[in-house]
Amino acid sequence: MSVNVNAYQQLKASLTAQGVTLLAVSKKKPIADIEALYQLGHRDFAENYVQELVEKQPQLPSDIRWYFIGHLQRNKVKYIAPFCTQIQSVDSLSLLQEINKQAQKCGRVIDVLLQVHIASEETKFGFDEQEVFSVLEQGSLYANVRIKGLMGMASFTENTDQVQREFSTLKSIFDRARQQFTELSLDTLSMGMSGDYPLALRWGSTMVRVGSLLFGARS
Ligand SMILES: *Cc1c(COP(=O)(O)O)cnc(C)c1O
Repeated sequence: MSVNVNAYQQLKASLTAQGVTLLAVSKKKPIADIEALYQLGHRDFAENYVQELVEKQPQLPSDIRWYFIGHLQRNKVKYIAPFCTQIQSVDSLSLLQEINKQAQKCGRVIDVLLQVHIASEETKFGFDEQEVFSVLEQGSLYANVRIKGLMGMASFTENTDQVQREFSTLKSIFDRARQQFTELSLDTLSMGMSGDYPLALRWGSTMVRVGSLLFGARS
């Protein structure tokens, strides 16, 4: 098995002590690797691709909490709505509406995060600050989604000053959103991956999404 047990146990212990949730990002990793981490007691797994998630989910224990963190097309929401715990990559109002509709069909309420564009790269999806506030204003109109907070990805760069600036920007948007929308009980700030999670923790992350550090590099 290719799970790095030591890295997992150290990271898990230190995050638990800080009250931070660890999502194990298992995209492109085999069932056996997910089972290995499950055997160590882990339950929170994140995937990026609908087809891959839909193939894996029935083969694995039903008490796994699945988080969706990849770009999500509206016409695919229906495949994950029956079981997905949280969708972190909500980047348009129309996607939020579709999640609400599909959740309603399943008789569920699905937790979501709004993805905020903080990186300099054009390719990363997400709302800008103004859009976040306008979606939050409409957030309580949708009975079958519960907006829990924000998610962001920093630029892929060695420049730690830049990465910290991006995380601090997201943290300040999160803090202002919490102040303004007390009725929503926003409690989740999902930021930090294998390469930058220590910086994200410094800037107030409550949930990190870690893949390669636990499972090894993806091919
Ligand atoms: C792949 C991915 C991760 C995990 O990346 P690692 O560098 O392997 O830790 C985290 N968040 C998102 C949105 C991803 O797509």
